[in-house]
Amino acid sequence: MKKKKLKTLPKIILILLIIIVIALCIIPSKKEENKNNNQEVKEEKNKYEKISYYKKENKERYIAYEKENPTLTLEQIITYVNIGLDNPYYTNTKPADNLNTNLLLVNKYNYLTEDYVPSNLENISTTYARSGMQLVKEAKEAFETLSENAKKDGMNVIAMSSYRSYDYQVNLYNNYVAQDGKEAADKYSARPGYSEHQTGLAVDVYNLDLPYTSFEETEEFTWMQENAYKYGFILRFPKDKVDITGYQYESWHYRYVGKKVAKEIKDNNLTLEEYIAKKVEN
Ligand SMILES: [Zn+2]
Repeated sequence: MKKKKLKTLPKIILILLIIIVIALCIIPSKKEENKNNNQEVKEEKNKYEKISYYKKENKERYIAYEKENPTLTLEQIITYVNIGLDNPYYTNTKPADNLNTNLLLVNKYNYLTEDYVPSNLENISTTYARSGMQLVKEAKEAFETLSENAKKDGMNVIAMSSYRSYDYQVNLYNNYVAQDGKEAADKYSARPGYSEHQTGLAVDVYNLDLPYTSFEETEEFTWMQENAYKYGFILRFPKDKVDITGYQYESWHYRYVGKKVAKEIKDNNLTLEEYIAKKVEN
């Protein structure tokens, strides 16, 4: 009887030891698992922050916009919300930043005040424009060089509309509204203060033969597609970017941004809105 008890005790100790060893192995790996789970939750929460142009103050808007647009990439969500596209046009508007610079952004979320007149406005030579056309000095010089070089290639790229004052846009917009109604007018014309033409950096061109609205059909348009960026101009309202710019496609409307930015925008197929939301604002 005594002998048997003595034999059982080491067995019990051995079993206890095995249980302790197993427990010691399992507990840390469980801990590790929990840690990983927590990390995943945190990563899900902060996935927007991985994008360099993420803005903390827009976080709730990213989440809401992603829910509404589940097919968009993370980059698109951040870019579009930064542009303001999660709000209807002409809502959540603010005065434009970067006044009197080449990166002045004026669109349906960023406006110029009634009294904003760009500094350094100059007349474009009538060799390259209808009379009385003005642009900001740097843009004017670039446009004249562009038009001159187009001429050397046998093309006419002529400015038919450029700087437009706030008051001019008031009349223009009101006439369009009277003619087509507000909803239609908003698709092709800017409300006063929201026109890029008030920046002195935008120009509408034609080729002297066809009305500017037919510019796409001309060989001058093809020339502009290949060359405008070399002079610092971009096609401002491209066909495939209507939802971003808020404007229907305009083959005739070009915007001066400077050579470096124009090349980057062209190479990456961006709009000015996307360029600024991705590159400038962070
Ligand atoms: Zn225009």
